[in-house]
Amino acid sequence: MIGYGIRYSGMSSYLTCNKWGIIVKNVIDLITRVPKEMKEEFSRNVCQENSFRFVMISLILMISESILLVFFRGSIFNTCPLVISFIIFNILYFPLIWKTYRNQEKYHKYFVRCVQFIYIVAVMLFGCALSILPQNQFASINPYIMAVFGLSVFVYTPPVVSSILFFSVYFVFFLALPYYQPNPQAVEILRINALIMNILGWIMSRMVYRMKIMSFTDKKTIEEINLELKDLVMRDSMTLLLNHENIFLRLTDEIERAKRIHYPLSLIMIDIDHFKEINDRFGHQAGDDVIIKVAQILNSTCRTTDVIGRYGGDEFLIIMPDTKSEDAVVLAERIRNTIEKTNFIKGIEVTVSGGITEFLQESSEELISSVDAKLYRAKENGRNRFEYENRTDL
Ligand code: GH3
Ligand code: MG
Repeated sequence: MIGYGIRYSGMSSYLTCNKWGIIVKNVIDLITRVPKEMKEEFSRNVCQENSFRFVMISLILMISESILLVFFRGSIFNTCPLVISFIIFNILYFPLIWKTYRNQEKYHKYFVRCVQFIYIVAVMLFGCALSILPQNQFASINPYIMAVFGLSVFVYTPPVVSSILFFSVYFVFFLALPYYQPNPQAVEILRINALIMNILGWIMSRMVYRMKIMSFTDKKTIEEINLELKDLVMRDSMTLLLNHENIFLRLTDEIERAKRIHYPLSLIMIDIDHFKEINDRFGHQAGDDVIIKVAQILNSTCRTTDVIGRYGGDEFLIIMPDTKSEDAVVLAERIRNTIEKTNFIKGIEVTVSGGITEFLQESSEELISSVDAKLYRAKENGRNRFEYENRTDL
């Protein structure tokens, strides 16, 4: 789990040994891959964020191009048809971008990605065309650069997609430029400039994507650590069973569920016999080891659906959802038997007593009192035994 942060550590330590290693490592870092187990969630997250960004980009482009058309028509007269076509394309395409943003779960992931990919291609080609068409007036590639850098910074693109995209658009630019730029020297310079900008744009896009991967994996790691910490706080540090407070909360939840779904619910309370004596004769550490061992036996004997907690010092509580008291008795007997036959350290002989009760619409406090009373009876009746009554017959 914490391994996400060190996913390339082996490779990195080898590569950072020399200067070339550092360069190669930096290049490898640019094409950092998402850890396999997070791929699906990461791509969903990226797709969602991209969707929102496409809405913003589309709106900004529609507004800025319209302003350009209305107020600066004179200076862009020979690209007017292109700008108008792009605004129309934007208006027609916007509902698709909006729908895939609002209801992404409704559509197949490849459909959403396809909608996004087409839009990126359109914006890049628009930037490319806007640079090429007025070449006989200005030998500039500003719109091309703006498209390349705008998309590298605002849109998360995986390495393969961005490589194909950037270099195919450059290829179009490379081939189309001489048809609109009459000066062969300017063609050469603009081609080189565009190539440099393309490479820088691609690197920028990789850096942005890498940062996204890192923030995503870090967030996931923190979430998992938080979950683990939350779980640890709920548990007794010695046995790792639920602690007093949380086994009680769990009992309240299970009672609510039993009422709702109308299934039986049984409760077992277990207490180690003459535990004080164990402490006195063998020391507190030995006493602790006995408690830990008993907790392990409970864990291995109970079903995964049962909930086990350390209720007090040498007292344990087992909540058994969907279980009648007759079945709880069978489990309790198995636990009693196993503990009696287990070899504890220093040859300590351990037995347990307990009470078993079945839920009959009472509160959690009443249920605990009922099972506690039976545990008390088991102690009075000689220990190493369980007491119960079939309360459904009452
Ligand atoms: P009984 O058969 O009636 O239960 O007798 P008992 O001696 O076991 O009596 P009780 O259950 O009341 O004793 C619990 C003792 O457990 C009291 C306390 O000193 C000891 N204890 C509570 N928590 C711990 C713990 O974490 N470690 C150790 N070693 N002892 C504990
Ligand atoms: Mg005891």
